[in-house]
Amino acid sequence: MALKLGLVGIGKIARDQHIPALAGDPRFELAATASRNAGVDGVPGFTSVEAMLAAVPELDAISICTPPQAHFDAALAALRAGKHVMLEKPPAATTRQIALLQAEAARHGRTVFQTWHSRFAAGVDAARDWLRGRTLTGGTITWKEDVHHWHPGQQWIFDAGGLGVFDPGINALSVLTEVLAEEVVVNKAVLAFPENQQAPIAAQLDLRTEAGVAVNAEFDFRQKGEQTWDIELVTTSGRLRLSHGGGTLAIDGQPVQADEALAGEYPRLYARFAELCAAGQSEVDWRPFQLVADAFLIGERRTVAAHHV
Ligand code: NAP
Repeated sequence: MALKLGLVGIGKIARDQHIPALAGDPRFELAATASRNAGVDGVPGFTSVEAMLAAVPELDAISICTPPQAHFDAALAALRAGKHVMLEKPPAATTRQIALLQAEAARHGRTVFQTWHSRFAAGVDAARDWLRGRTLTGGTITWKEDVHHWHPGQQWIFDAGGLGVFDPGINALSVLTEVLAEEVVVNKAVLAFPENQQAPIAAQLDLRTEAGVAVNAEFDFRQKGEQTWDIELVTTSGRLRLSHGGGTLAIDGQPVQADEALAGEYPRLYARFAELCAAGQSEVDWRPFQLVADAFLIGERRTVAAHHV
């Protein structure tokens, strides 16, 4: 029996990735949507999660694709109604909300899958395996994209809680925390806030591993021309480069061919969600979000030119 799923927040990522991934996965049936201003042809649509849960009680699961500021209330309502929950990244608006959702899922015996889609990029598993047993000596993350191109008209990203450039930057941190054997902390951060906005448009992080090795990260939303989502990690026995957001791996300059089964981040995300629901397990790892929160806690603030979405 396919899991009946309610999709929440019908915007760019729901249309680009979630709906096609669901359409290709017989383990799910898109049975309802909840979105204030949008819907999906042929699928019963509601303007709130509460209305959807009340009208379609047979739903097994919901998948939340709204901006992070709207995750907590929707996820809490769904868990309390006995549904499994999948959360887009960033997982929530505050760190405490994630802990409470995890506890609520356990209380109701339901799954909460707090996703990091970039961890499902084709090169990530091989990068993690290659790094095991090697000694890291340094690293750089370069995550630079044009916000006008990738987030057209999205004011929420620059509102309080929208995370600004950390909305994509957290993807890099999700990959870093997945592939490294050792933990990292934020040693220093510099955040650039447009004078008219509540969230940073650029950030520099000085991350340190437990062994004191520096990994420097540069995030920038003002990139024109070539877009860059690269992680380079140097060890005493070779270097790796993950490019295209984790999709391409090279070791010592030589491309590593990814297994075809690893293609498609969102089909793999939903496959994992189905496994977790069947096993009655949750998957929550909010270390990337903690690193972002820590950057806000200790970051130096710079004011830069106004930005208009
Ligand atoms: P989006 O195009 O703005 O769509 C999100 C939808 O959520 C909106 O269209 C809106 O639909 C609904 N919504 C509910 N509460 C909202 C609020 N307080 N503010 C704004 N919209 C609200 O955004 P998106 O690009 O799909 O991104 C959504 C989430 O997916 C983000 O957390 C983002 O990090 C993640 N994501 C995005 C991408 C990407 O390429 N864009 C890639 C991976 C992950 P209604 O008005 O109909 O309610």
